[in-house]
Amino acid sequence: MADVFIAGTGVAGSYLGARLTLSGVDVEGVDSQDVTKYHSACAWATSIEGMRERLRTLDVDIDEYVMREANGVYVDLGGTLHYVPTRHLATFDKPALIRRLIGKFRVKYPVRIRGMPDASSRLVIDATGVHRIVLGPADPGTDFMLPAYQLRVRYRNPPMEDFYVKPFPRYSGYLWYFPLGGGEFFVGAGDLHHMHLEYLSEFLERHAPDDVLYREGRPIRISPPGVLRPLARRPRTVAVGEAAGVVLPILGEGILPSMESAEILARRILQDGPEALDVRRYEEELKRKFSAFTAAYRFVRRKQSGTCRATDLSCIADAFRLALFFASSGGRKLTGLAPKLEHVRLAVSPF
Ligand SMILES: Cc1cc2nc3c(=O)[nH]c(=O)nc-3n(C[C@H](O)[C@H](O)[C@H](O)COP(=O)(O)OP(=O)(O)OC[C@H]3O[C@@H](n4cnc5c(N)ncnc54)[C@H](O)[C@@H]3O)c2cc1C
Repeated sequence: MADVFIAGTGVAGSYLGARLTLSGVDVEGVDSQDVTKYHSACAWATSIEGMRERLRTLDVDIDEYVMREANGVYVDLGGTLHYVPTRHLATFDKPALIRRLIGKFRVKYPVRIRGMPDASSRLVIDATGVHRIVLGPADPGTDFMLPAYQLRVRYRNPPMEDFYVKPFPRYSGYLWYFPLGGGEFFVGAGDLHHMHLEYLSEFLERHAPDDVLYREGRPIRISPPGVLRPLARRPRTVAVGEAAGVVLPILGEGILPSMESAEILARRILQDGPEALDVRRYEEELKRKFSAFTAAYRFVRRKQSGTCRATDLSCIADAFRLALFFASSGGRKLTGLAPKLEHVRLAVSPF
């Protein structure tokens, strides 16, 4: 029996498994997919600078996986098109990176977990993303999901060469168009009010692709570690990655945050030992690291429900916190965006 058992080897589980194994911990992972053909329902966009730094620990070079680097992102605010220059935003071959990380430790597949595995004496990690198969459903009112759907398409004459996003009113979601290179793109949308398929059809009617390579959909968890409960169950079962809610609510960005959460957990395990993991401390570290996500979540939810008014001090404080995060080096590293003040204002202003 391994010291650490990881259920789910997406970005969070595979990073954690590789990191701990390279540090001498006995780890076993399982995944319900045939990992030799690993697939990830995701638009594969991330901050290459942040990934470069994170993957250095594993001696993996993210540049080997980059598909298309952005010069900037067009932000379509219904009529006005803003161009936000980027420093390190890119799409990358996420399944290939995950297969590489999975190759660094012991993983059994395809093995579908259906609850708590029969391994009560070891540390069990729930890295099954949105499913939280081991921990089970979150406490009522603490979990929040955004439905999302995307297509991988090919254009002979693409409508735009660069990245493009169209936020929906009151932060209910947004549409994305991300280049993958070779004329291929992910075009998708997520919307709280389930209008995303309509927005998507509208875009695809205006910009009909030559080929649709595949379609996929799944919800994105946007409730952060400061809201989602529980993040762990005693004696030793803890969540990491999207199972712990580490997705930036305003952008749906979960790849790098999931790896960051895995790094926090890896350090804790290495310090305490798998048998004596200080679960409470891990939870606190997660909440602290992703406290800007909590402000973003409160702000977005208040905007969505129309209860964030210009005189509401708590909402203004959250908007301010979010603006600071976007302008900070941590925010830039996480999002790959290098916004100017006007862009930061744009990100947190009502429309
Ligand atoms: C449409 C869409 C587009 C997105 N685009 C982006 C983007 O461009 N950039 C970005 O940063 N984020 C994006 N995200 C969010 C991002 O994909 C996730 O937040 C991130 O992948 C979470 O990683 P994870 O390892 O925690 O979970 P996951 O990637 O979901 O991995 C969970 C793993 O658990 C396995 N599993 C599930 N159930 C079981 C079971 N019963 N037994 C065993 N194994 C199981 C799965 O096979 C999978 O390998 C997007 C999400 C969606 C839905």
